[in-house]
Amino acid sequence: MAVKKILSFSQSEHILKAKSIAVQADDPQLSEIVRDLKDTLLATPNGVGLAAPQIGYLKRVFVLRKDYLADDFEPDSMLAKSEDPVLVFINPQIISEKGHLHEEEGCLSVPCAYVKIKRAQIVKISALNENKQQFQACLKDLASRAVQQEIDHLNGVLILDHIE
Ligand SMILES: [Zn+2]
Repeated sequence: MAVKKILSFSQSEHILKAKSIAVQADDPQLSEIVRDLKDTLLATPNGVGLAAPQIGYLKRVFVLRKDYLADDFEPDSMLAKSEDPVLVFINPQIISEKGHLHEEEGCLSVPCAYVKIKRAQIVKISALNENKQQFQACLKDLASRAVQQEIDHLNGVLILDHIE
């Protein structure tokens, strides 16, 4: 296991601004990326989500802290039933969006900055879990915002890019 340094905008802008590539089915690095994301997120107080580029891997993977977001999943969903405290999303895609939120967000890669960002209130997402099984899930409120921020990271977009 490895707790990685979370890259900051001030020191690693070139990595955080790059677009991550999709994970291939036989990617030999995937289990290492997933393990490092989990270890690092669990070691980070107040961290809700973490995307692979934030620890230096330009691959389309992110994780969310389930215990901080449990109310924001559908009660019978695979995510709600998972016993792992960290949920894994590989090659995520937003299928549909509903409603609007306009709230302040922070980011582990942009310390001490809070930016008011317009997001969808509910997102339906399709992704692979860490066993590479495809799943779909609806997430709302904080979990929805977290998903949208993590997918932004996979596209090289930071909260600072949302300043109006
Ligand atoms: Zn972030």
